[in-house]
Amino acid sequence: MLFGSIVYGPIHSRRLGTSLGIELMPLEHKLCTFNCVYCECGWNTPVSHPQLPTREEVKKALEEKLSTFHTFRSFSKGDKNFQLSTLDVITFSGNGEPTLHPDFLGIIEDTCALRDRYCPNAKVSVLSNSTQLGRPDVVQALRLCDNRILKLDAGTDTMMRMIDLPVNENLTVQTIMSWLQQFDGDFTLQTCFLRGEHNGQVIDNTTPEELEAWYKAVDALHPKQIMIYVIDRKTPEENLSKISRTEMESIAAPLIAKGYDVSISA
Ligand code: SF4
Repeated sequence: MLFGSIVYGPIHSRRLGTSLGIELMPLEHKLCTFNCVYCECGWNTPVSHPQLPTREEVKKALEEKLSTFHTFRSFSKGDKNFQLSTLDVITFSGNGEPTLHPDFLGIIEDTCALRDRYCPNAKVSVLSNSTQLGRPDVVQALRLCDNRILKLDAGTDTMMRMIDLPVNENLTVQTIMSWLQQFDGDFTLQTCFLRGEHNGQVIDNTTPEELEAWYKAVDALHPKQIMIYVIDRKTPEENLSKISRTEMESIAAPLIAKGYDVSISA
């Protein structure tokens, strides 16, 4: 599933509410530093010169959408259609990793300014796989956002690499954690739980050993919120199974008992 325009929606997101999406990656194929076995956008497609929207194109597309929205909101205020015009969040996600865009910082600055002008109650959120957090401009941009929703799918290198298939095969959980620690817990940690098989290797980040390593990582990072979720749509690796709601609640329970704010999408 690919998003075919720079600005799309609003759509109802099971995790974020009414969300206007922004796509910074190519519209025709996925571009990401991970190649997750569960990615709803499918496998990465190698392309020598990927076409990304410019900062100006993103600003123009967003302003066009928000101004329409704003007009509708003013027009419909007070009547029963008003609920249709509420927007909870402007979300960067889509066909890959949004922080790969070379003008990511400038685009976030533009987006925050447009949000302040047209829909000051909406949050600006970024769903990221955390792999670009070694870049100061990306960290600076994410600090400007209301919600930084950052991925860590496992507490061990072996499982993280089996699930996320990072393009940089030497990437370690320790490196990702050291980058995440720059936010002093002021972020949302997102983790997808799943079981299955890929290329003859068993994938399972719900075993007692894997959960122990992940819980340790959570305690070291102490995120202000944790989002755990399960696969929801068709996945590129077909040999994956969905974790039940009951099991997800068991995974969350020890963290909730410690006082963490945990949301479950299952
Ligand atoms: S990080 Fe996100 S976009 Fe990238 S492969 Fe994984 S699920 Fe897909």
